[in-house]
Amino acid sequence: MARDKLLLIPGPSPVLPRILDRLAVSTVSHVGPEMAADLKDALANLKRIVFCERGEAFIVAGAGTLSMEMALVNTAAPGDKILVLSQGYFGDRMAAVGRAFGLDVDLLQSRWGAVVPPADLAAALGRADYRIVAATHVDTATGSCAPVEDYAGIVRRAGALYIVDGVCATGGIPERMDDWGIDVVLTAAQKCFGAPPGLAILVFSERAMDKRRGLASVPAYYADLLRWLPVMNDPTQYFSTPCVNEIRAFAEGARIVLEEGVEARFRRHARFARAIRAGLSALGFTFLTDASCLADTLSVAVYPAGVEDKAFRGRLAEKGVVVAGGLAQTAGKVFRMGHMGNLTRDQLEFALGALEGTLADLGGRPVRGAALAAGRAILEETR
Ligand code: PMP
Repeated sequence: MARDKLLLIPGPSPVLPRILDRLAVSTVSHVGPEMAADLKDALANLKRIVFCERGEAFIVAGAGTLSMEMALVNTAAPGDKILVLSQGYFGDRMAAVGRAFGLDVDLLQSRWGAVVPPADLAAALGRADYRIVAATHVDTATGSCAPVEDYAGIVRRAGALYIVDGVCATGGIPERMDDWGIDVVLTAAQKCFGAPPGLAILVFSERAMDKRRGLASVPAYYADLLRWLPVMNDPTQYFSTPCVNEIRAFAEGARIVLEEGVEARFRRHARFARAIRAGLSALGFTFLTDASCLADTLSVAVYPAGVEDKAFRGRLAEKGVVVAGGLAQTAGKVFRMGHMGNLTRDQLEFALGALEGTLADLGGRPVRGAALAAGRAILEETR
C-alpha cells in the first residue's frame, strides 16, 4: 500500500492509528455498557480540556457547523440581539447561522489577518443591549487568533452570554471556560483532537444551561440540547442513535490529550507553530496574519513572487505533504497549513524538508537546509 500522505490541511488533521482502531472495532449497542463508558469518559475529559468544572458537555453526530447552530439555537431567546465578532470566514458563517434562525444579528468584522480589537467590542456593547456575543477563537481562513480572554471580561461586564467557536482551537490552545467566563465552547473532533470528522461538540456553562432552560421552546428538534441532556447524563438512555464508533474514536482522542497533559499540549502547539513559521520564513514566505494574532494551530503562508499555488501544492503533495489553498479572496495567493492535533516532531521536520524541495523543484533557490535548521533551532530551545 502506498504511504499515506501527511495531511497538513487546517483540519481534518492526521488521525493516529490508536484512534482509527476504534472505528474498526465491532459496533456495539448505542445504549450498551461499552458505549456508555466511552461517552461518559469523553464528556468528562472534554470538560477537563476546556476547564469547565460544572456545566454540561454534549457530543452529537454532525460537525462544527451543527455545533454553531446548537450554540445559538439553545441560547437565543426571541428578540435577543446578538453580536458576532468575525475575523474572517467562520465568524461570517456564525452570523449567517443566526440569521437563518431569524435572530437579530449584528456583525463586527475585522480585516482578514487581524482581529476585532477588544475596545471595539466594548464600544459596540455600549451602543446596544446585546444578550449574546459570539467570537471565533481561531479563524481557519485567516490564521488569526482572537483575544477571547480579553473579550470575556468585557462581555461579562455587559451581562451578555459569551459563545466561543473553538473548532480550530479547542484542545490545542487554552480555553479556560470557568476562569475566563466563557459560557459556551463549541467545537468539532477533526482538528486539535486529531479524531475523524463527524461530531458536533459543545460545552455549556451552568449559566448557558440556565438560559436554555429558561426558553419555552427552541426552533430545533435534533439540535435541542434538552433532548440530548438525558443521554449525556446517562448514555444508556435513547434519544437518537449516536454514531457509536466515531464517539468511541473521539473518546480515545480525548484520552490522548490528557495523557500528553493539556498544558504540555498547549506548549507543544505553540512551539510547533513557531518552528513551522521559522521554517517558512527561511524559505521566503510571509504570512497573511498580523504578527500580533498568529494562531498556534495553523499558518497562512503568502507565496513569494513567481510561485504558483496549484503547481506548488501539487508538487508538495507528490512529496507526501497535503496543504490547503486559500479561501475566498485569498485563493491562489496563500496556502494554509495546519499544525494541530497529534503532529509529531518527525512529521514537522519531514514537512519542512518537503516544502524546501518543492520550492527548489519549481525553480526557486531556497538555501539548502535553512528551513529545517530554523525549525530545529526552535524545537531544541530548552523549555
Ligand atoms: N468554525 C471554524 C473556526 C472552523 O474552522 C470550521 C471548519 N473549518 C467550522 C466552524 C465549521 O466546521 P465544520 O466544517 O466541521 O462544519
